[in-house]
Amino acid sequence: MAQPPVVGMVGGGQLARMTGQAAVALGIGFRVLAGSAEESAALTVHDPVIGDERGYADLAAFAAGCSVLTFDHEHVPTEHLRALVADGVAVRPGPEALVHAQDKGEMRARLDALGVAAPRHAVVESPAAVAAFTDEVGGWPVVLKTARGGYDGKGVWVVGEDRVGVDEPFRAGVPVLVEEYVDFARELAALVVRSPSGQAVAYPVVQSVQRDGVCVEVVAPAPGLPADRAIEAQRIALRVAGELNVVGVLAVELFETRDGRLLVNELAMRPHNTGHWSIDGAVTSQFENHLRAVLDLPLGSPAARAPWTVMVNVLGGDVPDLYAGYRHCMARDPGLRVHAYGKAIRPGRKVGHVNVSGNDLEHLRARAWHAADYLSGAIDE
Ligand code: ADP
Repeated sequence: MAQPPVVGMVGGGQLARMTGQAAVALGIGFRVLAGSAEESAALTVHDPVIGDERGYADLAAFAAGCSVLTFDHEHVPTEHLRALVADGVAVRPGPEALVHAQDKGEMRARLDALGVAAPRHAVVESPAAVAAFTDEVGGWPVVLKTARGGYDGKGVWVVGEDRVGVDEPFRAGVPVLVEEYVDFARELAALVVRSPSGQAVAYPVVQSVQRDGVCVEVVAPAPGLPADRAIEAQRIALRVAGELNVVGVLAVELFETRDGRLLVNELAMRPHNTGHWSIDGAVTSQFENHLRAVLDLPLGSPAARAPWTVMVNVLGGDVPDLYAGYRHCMARDPGLRVHAYGKAIRPGRKVGHVNVSGNDLEHLRARAWHAADYLSGAIDE
C-alpha cells in the first residue's frame, strides 16, 4: 500500500500542534522541527525532530524526511529556503511568497506596487528620518516597526510628540519601518487559503481585538460589517494570495478606518490566531485547509457552522496550569470548546483559547470571556 505523504512543519509552537491534530484526522504523516522537546507541538507529535530551525543543515536534514515543508512561524532565513528549493524540496509557501510575511519593508513595497491601500509608510535609517516622515504625514504619533523578527507587538513602538523611544527600534540592527498612526475604528482579518493549482477559499471576515499588541478576542463574522466591505476585504486577500503565489493560509490583517476604508496592516502565511475560531466554528478548520493546500488536495468549505463564533485567547496569569479551571468552566458551560497548548504559563503568554458558537453574540462574548478569564486565574467565580 502506498504511504500517505508526510507534511513537515518548521516550528514547534501551538500552530504546529493544532495543525498536527488536523493531520491525525486526515491520516497523513506530520512531523515538526522544534527548538526543544518541551515546545507545544513537540510534546504531541510522533518523533519530533529537535534542531536549529534557523540553521541550514538541520532544515535540510528535516526536509529529507518530508514530502513537503511548511511553517508555523516566519523566522526561517529566506536564503535557506531558496537553497532548499534549489535542492528540490517542496517548500510551501515558497520563499518568494514568504519573504512578504517575513519582512515588513518587502511587504509594504509589494503591496504599494499592487496598489493595495495601506497606512502611509517609509523605510528609515535614523530618528532624524522619522522626524522628517512625521512632518510629511502631519505629525506625531507614528508607529515604528522593525522590518523583521517581530510578533505579538514585539518590534512595534508607538512614538508620540515627546519622541520617547524613537531610538529603540534602531538598536536591533535591522531596517526600520515608520508608519502613520491609524486611528482605526477596529481591526479586521481576511483569511484565505490557496493551493498550488490555484484553488482558493475565503473564510468569513472577522473582527479582532488586540491588547498591548496581542490578539485577545476574535468575532466571526465581523459584527455590522457591510457585505460590500466584507467582499472587498476577501478580494484583497485573494488577490494578494494570487499575486504573491501564496500556498496555504494567508491572513491579511486590516484596519477599518472611521470613514470606512480598509488598510492592510500585515500579512501572515501560516495558520493564524484570527482563524482559531474555525476549529469549532467552520465546516473546515484553517489547520485542515492549510494541510490540504500544501498537499494540493481540494480545499474544504470555509463556511461558518453558526451565525456567530467568538474566540478568546487564554493568556498566562497567576495559575500554574489551565487544567485547574476545567471543572468549573466545563460544568458552567457545556457548549464551551477549550483548547490548551501545553505551554508553560508565563504572564501574558498565549497558552490556549476558547471558542463558543451560537445565535446571541453578546451572550457568547460573555461566556467566552468568563471562561478565558477563569482559566487564566484572573477571576475566581
Ligand atoms: P506584529 O508583527 O507584532 O503582529 P503588527 O504590525 O501587526 O505587529 O502591529 C501590532 C498591533 O499594533 C496591530 O495589531 C495594531 O493594533 C497596532 N498597530 C500596528 N500598526 C499600526 C498603525 N500604523 N497605526 C495604529 N496602530 C497600529
